Amino acid sequence: AAKNHGRGTHRFFESVLAAQIRDRRSLEHDLRHAAERGELRVVYQPQMAVGSGTIVGFEALLRWQHPERGNVPPDRFIPIAEETGSILGIGEWVLRETCREAASWDRKLRIAVNVSAVQLHAPGFAELIHEILFTTGLAPARLELEITETALVRDPVRALATLRRIKALGVRIAMDDFGTGYSSLSNLRAFPFDKIKIDRSFIRAVDVNRETAAIMRAVLGLGRGLGLPVLAEGVETSAELAFLDAEACHEAQGYLLGRPGPIAQFAEHTREETGDKTAA
Ligand code: C2E
Ligand code: MG
Ligand code: MG
Ligand code: MG
Repeated sequence: AAKNHGRGTHRFFESVLAAQIRDRRSLEHDLRHAAERGELRVVYQPQMAVGSGTIVGFEALLRWQHPERGNVPPDRFIPIAEETGSILGIGEWVLRETCREAASWDRKLRIAVNVSAVQLHAPGFAELIHEILFTTGLAPARLELEITETALVRDPVRALATLRRIKALGVRIAMDDFGTGYSSLSNLRAFPFDKIKIDRSFIRAVDVNRETAAIMRAVLGLGRGLGLPVLAEGVETSAELAFLDAEACHEAQGYLLGRPGPIAQFAEHTREETGDKTAA
């Protein structure tokens, strides 16, 4: 009986695994056609200067509206797109779309775009950035590429060479999710970052948690010492924001200041006048 039970369990796990593989294959397949089918869109989340309280830019965040599954979160589909290589086409689409969008704004705000390791290591990535800036007419200094530390470890020599070429165009580079990758401190010295984005896990309850506050202060001190502005991700409460203000953190982003949404929702920040001129 025990033997039979064992075989049954084995068969059960086999079928669960098979279902998972089928599910993943179908996502892989659908992702390849998502862009051409118009299922991808970009939402924008405001980034604020803590001292002045003004919006200084936006982060572009990708959304996939699957015809049957509904909204598939980026944490689910980006890793699949990276493994299959479809992130190259998708990432290029995001860059083109967001640079074109930002170039159309009246206010010369910054646009931050996430770039994956696969894109960074692909041949001709710096040239692609150059071409997109030229084609869309966006001033290079308004584009900021967000790169995680894990994106650098694959081939640090190549990553450094590419980042230098991108910086030479006048584009800015931000280290994303700081504190969650490996060897953060040496990466800050070895790579030409313009900004540190501290991961949202270090903001949560920073106003009441001593350990979290100590880490946050240390990162702000590090930023000051290195001459790098620090942006705090995932600010959700006014107490967290008050802490950041008291500690002279440069910038903040989070649900408190604005959830990611269609850019039209932020027209008061991107447009000189809020009146609808196109309707006339
Ligand atoms: P990320 O670049 O660190 O983006 C920040 C994430 O935190 C976003 O999740 C955002 O919606 C979320 N967030 C912002 N404020 C708050 C807050 O106050 N509280 C909480 N709990 N969350 C907040 P999202 O949009 O689901 O994106 C997840 C990740 O997917 C991003 O993390 C980024 O790594 C990746 N991603 C998104 N769009 C792209 C893209 O176009 N290309 C690439 N390569 N990766 C992308
Ligand atoms: Mg990011
Ligand atoms: Mg982040
Ligand atoms: Mg992230």
